[in-house]
Amino acid sequence: MNEILVPQRVLIASGNNGKVREFEFLLRPMQIALVTVSEYPHIPQPEETGMTFAANAELKATHYALQTGEWSIADDSGLEIDILNGRPGVLSARYGGAETPYAEKMRLMLDELVEAADDQRGAQFISVIALADPSGKIRLTAEGVCRGSITGSPRGSNGFGYDPIFQPDGFNRTFGEMSDDEKRLLSHRGKASFEFIRKMSDFTGV
Ligand code: IMP
Repeated sequence: MNEILVPQRVLIASGNNGKVREFEFLLRPMQIALVTVSEYPHIPQPEETGMTFAANAELKATHYALQTGEWSIADDSGLEIDILNGRPGVLSARYGGAETPYAEKMRLMLDELVEAADDQRGAQFISVIALADPSGKIRLTAEGVCRGSITGSPRGSNGFGYDPIFQPDGFNRTFGEMSDDEKRLLSHRGKASFEFIRKMSDFTGV
């Protein structure tokens, strides 16, 4: 049976402040107290050894749940570029070097696509969210995908990561040119969060 205890509070298991802010907004309808890893500064980050977004989301959620005894939500996300056969994918954060600033990572990415025509610049952001219970067991996962294309140059300075070079389908502005609210509603993380909340409410009946 799909029985799930309704957590009173949930740890958002991410050290990425951009993501944490998005989750705090997106998960507000669940009316669950959200805590961040800043309450647990001494916990080492797990190595993201998974080959898929789901595997990495699950290993992060389990790791933080076991370290803290909290219900823990983790996401793994990244950018898949069609003409690069889905690269950088799960390696998005490490593309061009883990410590390389995003301005430089974006420049490298645009260089890789310099020969690509407009109709060859398709890409998608993917987010998988996993919820682990305090014993580390995965109780829920949800996925969101946002299709778009890679622009010819960075535009806008909102958001984080690759936002200035990603233009979602149906818009003529990049994520970097959108307000936080606008991006959250149509982004991969937004879609995964809606799916996550829907699945939670199937369990809780709320
Ligand atoms: P991780 O999920 O923390 O392993 O890293 C995901 C990486 O994908 C981020 O560090 C960014 O490089 C990229 N990424 C994921 N979501 C977004 C987004 O909403 N905007 C821009 N970049 C993103």
